[in-house]
Amino acid sequence: MKKKKVRGIARDTLHFILEASRSSEPNEFAGLLSVEEDIISDVIILPGTESSRMSALVRLYMLPNMSVAGSAHSHPSGLLRPSEPDILFFSRTGDYNIIVGPPYDESAWICYDGAGKRRDLPVLDVDFKDDGFDDEFDEDMDEPFR
Ligand code: ZN
Repeated sequence: MKKKKVRGIARDTLHFILEASRSSEPNEFAGLLSVEEDIISDVIILPGTESSRMSALVRLYMLPNMSVAGSAHSHPSGLLRPSEPDILFFSRTGDYNIIVGPPYDESAWICYDGAGKRRDLPVLDVDFKDDGFDDEFDEDMDEPFR
């Protein structure tokens, strides 16, 4: 899979991940992150929950020309550390892997690289699509999350 240079994640995309994760409870949400220009701007949703994530991923890898920067999934437990299977998953998806959890706001996510190490991922205000989730979130947070 081709490596992508990434400048950050679009705020709308992060909100989409948080909202989709919230509405997936009690199940886990999982998706792959796709990049437009050099910004993570789209989520390819994987069907299934924690137990079926790996098989969903295997199916995705059979698609031709999939180009992703990483993944996003939720831990309804609220523990945002990657599990051993998560790290294996990350090593296959890319260098930007987001785990989110309750309360599913902008403070409730961490980005990891392909080896499972924490990394910074700036949240960028870009304007190329509207997921329709904006109204529920506070837009005041400007500093990049660590
Ligand atoms: Zn996990």
